[in-house]
Amino acid sequence: MPLLINTHEVIILITSESGVRFRLRIVRAGEAYGRTNALTADRDLVEFYDTRYDHTEFGQFVQRYYVETLLDDRCPAHPGYRYGDEGCRHGFGGLNLDTNAGEDWWIDPAAMDVVRAWLRLEIER
Ligand SMILES: [Zn+2]
Repeated sequence: MPLLINTHEVIILITSESGVRFRLRIVRAGEAYGRTNALTADRDLVEFYDTRYDHTEFGQFVQRYYVETLLDDRCPAHPGYRYGDEGCRHGFGGLNLDTNAGEDWWIDPAAMDVVRAWLRLEIER
């Protein structure tokens, strides 16, 4: 019988520009995570899984981040500015889940916009 750790799953499916479909899962602070669910999140996390491979119930685990890291809008190239500020023409851009994986694990800017909107909706709700 499966052991139910989290009371609910917060999941979204995102297709990247390269056509790879990812399953993203939010782990709220205080919830269990990790391969054997032995870890407890100290802050809200989001995990990225590649759905092409069923290594876990969600797919192949690729990467996890603090939600606040992905939502951080301070521009590294323009200290003191946030994306979209006057004086900074940058946007959030995409996300490279693994620099060794090439195009497959690149989440393009349009897909990341959806991811960030989803994170804000779920986390701030
Ligand atoms: Zn900038």
